[in-house]
Amino acid sequence: MKSFTRELQFNTKKTLEIINITGEVDALIRESGIKEGLCLVNSMHITSSVFINDHESGLHHDFEVWLEKLAPHEPISAYRHNNTGEDNADAHLKRTIMGREVVVAITGGKLHFGTWEQIFYGEFDGQRRKRVLVKIIGE
Ligand code: ZN
Repeated sequence: MKSFTRELQFNTKKTLEIINITGEVDALIRESGIKEGLCLVNSMHITSSVFINDHESGLHHDFEVWLEKLAPHEPISAYRHNNTGEDNADAHLKRTIMGREVVVAITGGKLHFGTWEQIFYGEFDGQRRKRVLVKIIGE
């Protein structure tokens, strides 16, 4: 069995941003040479997510509105976590809702998706450098 590990980096312009990273993950699978196996993609931060859904801008807007309703950024003082001097309690909650990682099967050297599935990086406390781990195992 082969194993291939890489990190992707992101530094978003906005606090909250959703980025399609399917192409980058796909490129790493090709680089790994692994044809049959599994691909793990996880955020290495507790204020950002990796998730699978549709590449549709209306839906991404809906995610942002929904997350802001569930865990509004303000008022900052509404969260105990922010008593530490931070202001990102909402980002921790948003990350938990949207998840930490995805695992996708690799078949014939490609991501074995269902119809419309794409991999996204969800940033909830951006404008600083963040990392995503990609681990591919198989043969
Ligand atoms: Zn925090």
